[in-house]
Amino acid sequence: MEKKIYVESANNLPVYDECDILVVGGGAAGHSAAIAAARAGAKNIVLMERYGYMGGDVTGGYVIMVPDLSWYNMSFVRGLQEEWFTRLEKNAPGSVLAPGLDKLGSEDPALLYRWAAIHDCVSRGTHVEKGPNGEEVRRDTKRLVRAVYFEPNQLKIEMDKMLYEHRDAIRVLYHSWGTKPIMEGNEVKGVIFESKEGRQAIFAKTVIDATGDGDLYSQTGAPYASLADGQTRSSTTAVVWRIGGINWDQYYEWSNAHPAQVQAIKNRMAEIAGFRNVPLPSNDNSICWINNWHAAKDCTKVKDLTDTEINTRISMREVLAYLKEACPLVFRNAFIYDIAPQLGTRCSRRLKGEYIMSANDWAFANQFDDTIAWHSTICQINDCGPVEIPYRAILPQKVENLLAPGRHLSSDDVAIDWLNLIPQCVGTGQAAGVAAAVAVQSGTNVRCVDIKKVQNILIDQDVPLPRNERVDPAYMECVEQHMYGTYTELAKKARAEADGLKSFRQW
Ligand SMILES: Cc1cc2nc3c(=O)[nH]c(=O)nc-3n(C[C@H](O)[C@H](O)[C@H](O)COP(=O)(O)OP(=O)(O)OC[C@H]3O[C@@H](n4cnc5c(N)ncnc54)[C@H](O)[C@@H]3O)c2cc1C
Repeated sequence: MEKKIYVESANNLPVYDECDILVVGGGAAGHSAAIAAARAGAKNIVLMERYGYMGGDVTGGYVIMVPDLSWYNMSFVRGLQEEWFTRLEKNAPGSVLAPGLDKLGSEDPALLYRWAAIHDCVSRGTHVEKGPNGEEVRRDTKRLVRAVYFEPNQLKIEMDKMLYEHRDAIRVLYHSWGTKPIMEGNEVKGVIFESKEGRQAIFAKTVIDATGDGDLYSQTGAPYASLADGQTRSSTTAVVWRIGGINWDQYYEWSNAHPAQVQAIKNRMAEIAGFRNVPLPSNDNSICWINNWHAAKDCTKVKDLTDTEINTRISMREVLAYLKEACPLVFRNAFIYDIAPQLGTRCSRRLKGEYIMSANDWAFANQFDDTIAWHSTICQINDCGPVEIPYRAILPQKVENLLAPGRHLSSDDVAIDWLNLIPQCVGTGQAAGVAAAVAVQSGTNVRCVDIKKVQNILIDQDVPLPRNERVDPAYMECVEQHMYGTYTELAKKARAEADGLKSFRQW
């Protein structure tokens, strides 16, 4: 049946502001974009966010774990991502739990034992390096990895403090919802937004769409995809909640002693809730978070969002009651600590940008001249080794003055499972901010920006990039010695398959 249509009459909108760089969305990507732009010298930035705090999924969605910041002994993901944690460690003691930067890659059994209970702090892969004659030397050892657990409310505070330090350059608009790009031909000229003050316009030289859902680029004529593949982790929604009154170390010990029961508990939790949900550790030993996956949900559809909210909340008491019964040793005194204020969105629309990332980028260790992030990731194809993300993955086709960092960047529906993670959102956001600042200062647009200049500023901002003489050579030595991680069976399979391992799924 054809949908009824209401024709809205044209009206005049007040112009609220005019700026050089307008960032819409204050999640991991948008917050990083605004801060990086200011540090790169931009003076006239507006950062617009629909809710009343920064962080998006990270702080509001209680996604309180950042994985794989290191590979072997090298800390690959640095820049603003690592700054979150150095600041939190200093300003809010106890709000961060992670293996220290000085311990990365350690094979010390005592340390591995200490961190084994904390998911993803110990590597899964085989230890491989080049022998004296270039031959592969394999050792079956585990090593320490920098995965960071943090307290989301402390991060909310820290993100505001970071913005406050740049208050001369960044004007923050909370409770403001970007609804429509202002277009002149194929050029973005600003954004219309809604707030309690009504509908208003902001003009900008460059717009950074960091809404995570391509809310703006999807209306510009730039090509994009929707998340078609309901089998991927990315096509799942969640409402994270936390359980207090437990002892996680004790749960880990108990799990090791009762592996069959642990699986049975997970299965029963899924049956009770009607969707997969599992407990994970947090920065506090007495609290765990319940991650969950509502399959095949599109977080741009109001019905899917509503169902996720209601179905998660109505499952909570029953799930908790079951945990108390199934594992009283750990959950006897457990209680619902809190519920994330914001629904967890993993992916919806994805840009079809100037470069579309795929599993091949991991399997072949693809190299680019316009690399803006060089990140170790959770992808097992290359043993979680570093992958290069090119600037073109956040640059739309056909449309000018627009960038799209974060979880809606340009990727196929397999690679997005590794690219929508927090570090990759921070990294691409930071690069978008620097690129926008350089474009404004050079009087050009973000398509024509001098990418070498962007890369140099990123390096100044503590972002290691490959094949650059200003970056510590130990990074290149590490990837070469460990063959970019492309020795794995998965990488070999991906290279052999014409479709770049499209069948590969990881939850
Ligand atoms: C339950 C769950 C578990 C996850 N687990 C992990 C994990 O363990 N580790 C990991 O690294 N990653 C994980 N992820 C993925 C990761 O958290 C997200 O992909 C990432 O945080 C997204 O960052 P972003 O800035 O691109 O988008 P978002 O965090 O979605 O930020 C977008 C921001 O824009 C705002 N916004 C949206 N639309 C508008 C608009 N029209 N106008 C104004 N503002 C708008 C939003 O309010 C939000 O603040 C998980 C995700 C979920 C949901």
